[in-house]
Amino acid sequence: MHDPSCIFCKIIAGQIPSKKVYEDDDVFAFHDINPWAPVHFLLVPKQHIPSMAQVGPEHERLLGKMLLLAPRLAAEQGCNPYPEGGFRIVCNTGAEGGQEVHHLHIHVMGGPRPWVRG
Ligand code: AMP
Ligand code: ZN
Repeated sequence: MHDPSCIFCKIIAGQIPSKKVYEDDDVFAFHDINPWAPVHFLLVPKQHIPSMAQVGPEHERLLGKMLLLAPRLAAEQGCNPYPEGGFRIVCNTGAEGGQEVHHLHIHVMGGPRPWVRG
């Protein structure tokens, strides 16, 4: 369930500090330490799944929950309403997908432009 060498497992366990956005039994969300946009947080499963390359049918409910949470948390964190506002969801997967932390996470980014990146 947990990888003792994983930085996001340590954040979820409270062993590394983070700015928490949301938590329930299945998921944890916290502000990205190096934000690209005025709003930039990460939504992660509490279970250590390395990436989207490892998900299966057993994760259907979890992934559905994460995707349904994203717009709600985006609005709560200050993203402006669709369609003038909105947000971007990014899920980097593997080295060629730009993934640096190998614990599945969804980036949720938004807020007025210009952004730092993206
Ligand atoms: P990725 O490149 O998709 O694996 O993204 C990993 C993200 O984790 C990057 O945007 C980092 O800024 C972010 N990150 C790394 N360490 C921390 C941390 N301790 N707290 C919050 N965000 C972090
Ligand atoms: Zn982990």
